[in-house]
Amino acid sequence: MADVTKFLNGIENFQQRHFGENAELASTLVDGQQPQALLIGCCDSRVDPAVLLNCDLGELFILRNIANLVPPYIYNDDYHGVSSSLEYAVCRLEVTDIIVLGHSECGGIAALMEADDSGDSGEFIGKWVNIAAAARDKVLAEMPDAPRDKQARACEREAILISLKNLMTFPWVKERVAKGQLCLHGWYYNIKTGQLRYYNQLTGEFEILVRRYEKSPPPADAV
Ligand SMILES: [Zn+2]
Repeated sequence: MADVTKFLNGIENFQQRHFGENAELASTLVDGQQPQALLIGCCDSRVDPAVLLNCDLGELFILRNIANLVPPYIYNDDYHGVSSSLEYAVCRLEVTDIIVLGHSECGGIAALMEADDSGDSGEFIGKWVNIAAAARDKVLAEMPDAPRDKQARACEREAILISLKNLMTFPWVKERVAKGQLCLHGWYYNIKTGQLRYYNQLTGEFEILVRRYEKSPPPADAV
């Protein structure tokens, strides 16, 4: 068995904080959860939503999958992991916000860029990321001669828009958005710089929401 000591030490540290220093929060959470937002993020280990947004337990209802994708609303006998998480967050927990959090250097989007239309990458991955095939096709049509990494960055952002569009195919999402009870957000995190952009529906652009990290210059008298 692989050495999991690091993880066991981790939960012991967590227990000390959660049931010790934060005992009040721990006892509140036993009664239930009231997260403000559903966050749909990628499985990528570098973009853990609760860590990135510095959220405590109970603050975010999180759904993670390859490339943070939302399929369109389809009601049939298949297993619908994404749709059931969405239904629970929206209809039971009544979150007021849904955030689709995409990111740079996404392996899922790289698989989408590499796959042909039949979605041949892997047993499951190719078919899954093909949800965003229209994003890839748009990027390839609009910037056919751009370097591959630029196309991938553009596709990562376009795929967020596909997920936002697909969210609106769920009748109970559409209804709540129309009534002003639910707000949809498309965010894009740059793992190289820490910069966070958001999709502005008015301009149709991903604009800066939180600037990239800059080290403060040392004070003049310290030089
Ligand atoms: Zn990813």
